[in-house]
Amino acid sequence: MSGRLLLAVIASSCVAAVACSEPGAPTPPAPDSGQRIAPYVNGLRGLVDPRAASALERVDGVGRQLLAARSYLRASTGIGDRWSWTKKQISAFEGSADQQALLEQIGAVRSAFERSNPGYTLFVNERVRSLDEQLSNWNRNDSVASAAANLEAATQEFLAKTGWPAPGEQILRGLAAFLQAQTPEPKPTLAAPGLSAHGQMHAVDFHVLSPNASRAPSQRLSAIGHGPERNAAAHGIQSLSAPR
Ligand SMILES: [Zn+2]
Repeated sequence: MSGRLLLAVIASSCVAAVACSEPGAPTPPAPDSGQRIAPYVNGLRGLVDPRAASALERVDGVGRQLLAARSYLRASTGIGDRWSWTKKQISAFEGSADQQALLEQIGAVRSAFERSNPGYTLFVNERVRSLDEQLSNWNRNDSVASAAANLEAATQEFLAKTGWPAPGEQILRGLAAFLQAQTPEPKPTLAAPGLSAHGQMHAVDFHVLSPNASRAPSQRLSAIGHGPERNAAAHGIQSLSAPR
C-alpha cells in the first residue's frame, strides 16, 4: 500500500488562503424541483455500484444526491477499488505494518517541514475517514450545497426540455450522460461520500501550526479543507511522494 500512498502537503502559498474554496452564488432551483426530480434520482441508483446506491439514500436533498450520483457514475466500475474501507477494514488497518509505515512517513514529512520552517510544525489527522464521516461532511459542506443547487437547477432544465418523461431506462441513461458531462460550479471541496482518498488512507491532510501553538486543531494557524484529492493542486496543495 505504501507505494500508492500520496501525502498531500499544504503549500506555503495556501497558509493565508483559508478562503480558497469560496462557494459561488448558486442558481436556486424551482421550489418543487426536488420532488419532481426525486424519482429520477431513485432510478439512477440502479445504474451505480450497490454501495454507492445505498450511500445515496443517506445523502440529504436531491441536489446533493445528483452531485454524488455524478461522481459515482463517472467512477464507473473503478468504484470497487476506490470505495472507503468498512469498519472491519479500518480495524484491520489499526496496528498493522501499513499503519506503522504511514506514521513513519508522516513523521519524516513533519521533520523535514520543521527543519525548513523553523518554529512551525504540522498537525495531521491520522485517522481513516469513514463513510459515515464522509456522509456527514457532505451533508453540511457549503461548497457542496452551492454546487448541488446549481446542478439541481441544470437537471431541472434538462428534464423540462425532455418533457419530464416517466423515469424509464432511456431517460435515465440520458440523465446519467448529462450528469457525467457536467462540471460542478463551484468545485466541491470534498470527494463524494465513499470516494475520498482518506477512506483508504491514500491521503492525509497536513495543517500548518503557528509557532508555539499546541497541536489542538482549534489553535491551528491555517485550517484548510481538502480539495478533491485527485485534484489537490487546484487547492494550492502540493502532492508529494512520501519519503521512503
Ligand atoms: Zn484531504
